[in-house]
Amino acid sequence: MSATTASLHSRIDQLARIQSEVLGAGITREVYTPAYGEATALVSEWMREAGLETRLDAAGNLFGRWNGSEPQLPAIWTGSHFDTTLNAGAYDGVLGVLGAIDAVAQLRAASFVPRRTVEVIGFAGEEPRFGAGCIGSRAMVGTLQRSELDTMADRDGVTIAAAMDAVGLDPDRISEARLDPGAVAAFVELHIEQGAVLEQRGIAVGVVERIAAPHQLRLTLTGEARHAGSTPMALRLDALGGAAEVILTVERLARDSASGTTVGTVGTIEVEPGAVNVIPGAVTLDIDVRDVVLDAREQVVSAIHDAIDEISSRRGLSAELREMVFDRPAPCDPQIVATVRAVCEELGTPYLDMASGAYHDAMVLGAQVPIGMIFVPSRAGLSHHPDEYTEPAQLDLGVKVLAGTLARLAA
Ligand SMILES: [Zn+2]
Repeated sequence: MSATTASLHSRIDQLARIQSEVLGAGITREVYTPAYGEATALVSEWMREAGLETRLDAAGNLFGRWNGSEPQLPAIWTGSHFDTTLNAGAYDGVLGVLGAIDAVAQLRAASFVPRRTVEVIGFAGEEPRFGAGCIGSRAMVGTLQRSELDTMADRDGVTIAAAMDAVGLDPDRISEARLDPGAVAAFVELHIEQGAVLEQRGIAVGVVERIAAPHQLRLTLTGEARHAGSTPMALRLDALGGAAEVILTVERLARDSASGTTVGTVGTIEVEPGAVNVIPGAVTLDIDVRDVVLDAREQVVSAIHDAIDEISSRRGLSAELREMVFDRPAPCDPQIVATVRAVCEELGTPYLDMASGAYHDAMVLGAQVPIGMIFVPSRAGLSHHPDEYTEPAQLDLGVKVLAGTLARLAA
């Protein structure tokens, strides 16, 4: 096979042209769509060009395997995802997959022979097409139940099971995607920071020490939709007024959190009936609370519960709260963290120890295998946005750090 490998940068551009729908200047490539299948085929081809043996598991996770000289040893895993959220950027997730393929190609070119098997993984459905994300990695650790495939649906009402079916995956076989924790020695994910800390500090590499995890709730407040003109203020049960109080309370409680690192966000809101001359009768909103410190996060969540009780009873609204996502913050493995630092030192690259505010497949796998993450800067901290950008030299440096890390872990 010819060793003509297109550069990482042109591959990122090529992948960016494969979209499941065009929603703006950014990229939309949702999991389990024909476009995602096309992307999977292209990434598989690149994996094979790098000498990796490819396979797809029952959840649609793509694996590229480089056999070690002692294949019975627990393997070194690396990778990320190449699905995107809506109208997103070209680097989120993609860097960790294509960068890992590039890292393998570099190690091969340097005649490196791994003792442990190295596997590059493209995790299916990290982005929340179906409400919650990390479908592929959750299937691997066994926290995605068969029943959820029928209950979780996308914005068009398509369930995970139906979407899997449409692309030739059998939802009844999802449990076959389970990983054997004893067979994985380490998982390392290269990713853009999705924040502006590295850029502000002028440091090109972040060594992640822990990953914050979300607790997400969906709140529906119900009041009475009455005529906005003929209903006196004293007789109103305005659901949106209550929601406004909840939103500001979430902000305040997160800001006052004991850890100082909790973040709280209301990112969606739906108002019914949504007419200028009708008092809002029902409002549904999503609350996202995250922290690297579980206790502090849960204190904020329970204070939010109390506040919702108080606000709804004072305003005569009924409140229905649904648990959507409960994840545990994941500490990175100290030995992997030390390895990444050592590689940076060897390369003479300044690095910053940091926490990841966003969740990643690494967080999910962290429940069962030792994990580490390497960050590169995101210009202006933008991510999930058409203007998401990382300088080519920063991408290359991230790949170099990943290659060095894989070499040490696999040796
Ligand atoms: Zn990502």
